[in-house]
Amino acid sequence: MAQKQNLQQIVVLGGGYAGVLAAIRLARQTQKLPIKIILVDASDGMVERIRLHQLATGQQSNKIPYQKLLKNTSIQFLQGFVTAIKPDQKRIIIKENQTAKELSYDRLIYALGSSVDMHSVSGVAKHSYNVGSYEMAIALQQRLAKNPNSHLLICGGGLSGIETATEMAEAYPKLKITLLTSDSFGSQLSQLGQKYLEHTFQKRNILIKDKSKVIEVKAQQVVLSDGSKVDFDFCLWTANFTVPKIACESGLEVNKIGQILVDKTLRSISHPEIYGVGDAAIIEPTAEIHLRMSCASALPMGAHAADNVLAELQNSQPEAFRFGYGGRCVSLGRYDALIQMVKYDDTPREKIITGRLGAIIKEFICRYTIWSLNLERLGWFPYRWPQPNTQKKAILTSVSQHSTT
Ligand SMILES: Cc1cc2nc3c(=O)[nH]c(=O)nc-3n(C[C@H](O)[C@H](O)[C@H](O)COP(=O)(O)OP(=O)(O)OC[C@H]3O[C@@H](n4cnc5c(N)ncnc54)[C@H](O)[C@@H]3O)c2cc1C
Repeated sequence: MAQKQNLQQIVVLGGGYAGVLAAIRLARQTQKLPIKIILVDASDGMVERIRLHQLATGQQSNKIPYQKLLKNTSIQFLQGFVTAIKPDQKRIIIKENQTAKELSYDRLIYALGSSVDMHSVSGVAKHSYNVGSYEMAIALQQRLAKNPNSHLLICGGGLSGIETATEMAEAYPKLKITLLTSDSFGSQLSQLGQKYLEHTFQKRNILIKDKSKVIEVKAQQVVLSDGSKVDFDFCLWTANFTVPKIACESGLEVNKIGQILVDKTLRSISHPEIYGVGDAAIIEPTAEIHLRMSCASALPMGAHAADNVLAELQNSQPEAFRFGYGGRCVSLGRYDALIQMVKYDDTPREKIITGRLGAIIKEFICRYTIWSLNLERLGWFPYRWPQPNTQKKAILTSVSQHSTT
């Protein structure tokens, strides 16, 4: 009875890389404590977002049912769409089968991820596809299968644009592909990395138009800021990511794109009983920990938030998050990849690994993201991540950048 009175309800919003790891890790560590963990997601399965460009070319579906991911844990899964948080009452509102439902929490982990920004540039939502969501990747897959000989225009030269262009070129050799980017092509890489990419694109007949800013997308044509136009049969938009507006609309402190602002311990700076992790969160600038939207940082953030929630439940102080990048791993189809080694602060070093070996490393890292969830769940190997004094482990958990260029 006494236990029941102290029962703490931890709600995790979002079952992506960050949310699932946070829930599983917390469940494993709190088996003997009076704690209820509820994971909420709009979908019935976790989407391996880092493979959505593969799904778009018709490769195996990559949605893992939560039932399987959470097997033999005490976590309760609730399928529903989160519409609001009422932080003053510590409640959230979820839409489940058209019915609004309220759920209370003692601690909340906000892990609602990101999506491709289809609204900042005129016409994008109406006239283009993206590979940011499962549904869109399937729609693109169907379109490609119907029109394998047409002209695909990819807008966005970030790593998702690059990965998608090369994946498509390999799967559909007759597809004409043009990639537009507002920056210099490959500017996020070292000189060696850039050269390798240029060479790969040339080999695969992918046309690059860099320093080209799209200001409008029309049916079968984009308009650039210098007034010129580029025609296409279909368009794929990979530039700019955005996040759900829920934190902002619920009165939490957020940055200008709506990411929940958290302190070094990953607690919301306005509502410390809420942790923010993954793409939907950003550490306040004064903390000087710079993270980009990536699976590489979402998993460590999820794990760290779980550890801090546990610390608080045991009346200890939450600890500061420590993290260093190790590399950016860019797939270039199934048989080639570019592993760009970086310093802890994510600046590129003049060191790359390419070709078959690169592809093997990249595939290992993609698989490791899911293995790490299972290893954590089974308690065989709790998740670890590169921290500034453990550089050698960096490559194991580092996956590439796919964010806002
Ligand atoms: C094609 C592509 C390739 C990528 N490749 C890489 C890579 O190689 N390396 C890398 O580090 N990163 C990569 N990324 C980026 C990476 O996928 C994201 O950074 C990562 O998924 C972020 O994890 P997350 O847990 O924060 O959010 P997500 O994985 O986005 O999960 C968020 C979850 O929240 C749920 N959700 C959202 N809103 C609601 C709501 N209102 N109600 C209920 N549920 C909701 C969603 O259904 C989802 O399950 C890639 C991205 C793309 C699109």
